Amino acid sequence: MPETFRALLVTRDEDKKQSVAVAEMTEADLMEGDVTVAVEATTVNYKDGLAITGMAPVVRRFPLVPGIDFAGTVVKSSHTDWREGDQVILNGWGAGETHHGAYAGLARVKGDWLVKLPPQITPFEAMAIGTAGYTAMLCVMALERHGIAPERGPVIVTGAAGGVGSIAIAILSRLGFHVVASTGRTSEEDYLRDLGAAEVIARDELSGPARPLGRERWAGGVDAVGSHTLANVLSMTSYGGAVAACGLAGGMDLPASVAPFILRGVSLLGIDSVMAPLSLRREAWGRLARDLDRAKLASLSTTIGFGGIVDAAHAIVEGRIRGRVVVDMAK
Ligand code: NDP
Repeated sequence: MPETFRALLVTRDEDKKQSVAVAEMTEADLMEGDVTVAVEATTVNYKDGLAITGMAPVVRRFPLVPGIDFAGTVVKSSHTDWREGDQVILNGWGAGETHHGAYAGLARVKGDWLVKLPPQITPFEAMAIGTAGYTAMLCVMALERHGIAPERGPVIVTGAAGGVGSIAIAILSRLGFHVVASTGRTSEEDYLRDLGAAEVIARDELSGPARPLGRERWAGGVDAVGSHTLANVLSMTSYGGAVAACGLAGGMDLPASVAPFILRGVSLLGIDSVMAPLSLRREAWGRLARDLDRAKLASLSTTIGFGGIVDAAHAIVEGRIRGRVVVDMAK
């Protein structure tokens, strides 16, 4: 185990102004936990972007190592499930929010938070998936539980060129769905079609105030955007359909009417990845290992080093990241 390791640290001054810098840490600086992991790979999610830029109060304890996701190898454990050498994944549970997170050489966490890295995927592939991809899978599983199947009709994915969107498209198309991708970046049409989108529509079609009911266009959807977009998606969902809502990239409000719910029996399925129980996480990661095309995963991800995290954080909140960013902690 290294004596010291580099970490990204978010601090706050007396005026509550947040800043971020590289720091040298030791094992003694880590927070409580029963498993210590050498972090090999991590990623930059939208939430990490909010945490690092301070655009939203994601970090709620200072100083704090941000980063909500990592994959790595156990170097020390007093937890019965984990032994030195085990390869593990962590998503959420407050890491990068109230507990030191992923952007450090070592992380000490609760063993109960960890999921075994599926043998079919590498730590880098796990982080190409990350919380965004695992959330996309939770959305797909929720739609399936509601009975949404390819024969019921098309499904819409909003925020399509982002992390959740890109992976949702890849999974849904592999499962045989006709996927409609909604994006503000129509220049990414070829990218979205290569991932499996059958139709690409402009974000503007869904960003204005929603009518109570619109033309029935899809049986379900995965929404990463919220606000007017989600309201429009709901109003255009066909009878008995369902929409899995996981994001707020377009806003936290929901200016919708109850018409889709009470006149078309449409369901709104809420998706949270942070506190999702282990059983659901294990199922999601098992499905990701099976139902996500590895070549598509490679095509939607780019790799950066530790030094690129802050720039990537700014880029993601400005909507400039396509697909997923993997951080190779050795670089
Ligand atoms: P990304 O930034 O990678 O993707 C978000 C996408 O949303 C963008 O690429 C863009 O897609 C679209 N978008 C951005 N700004 C706007 C806007 N103002 N109006 C409409 N569309 C917009 O983020 P992630 O994929 O990592 O996360 C997506 C959302 O899901 C975030 O809000 C995140 O916080 C949330 N999330 C929630 C989780 C949960 O547990 N519930 C877990 C993971 C993520 P395009 O360019 O194609 O239009």
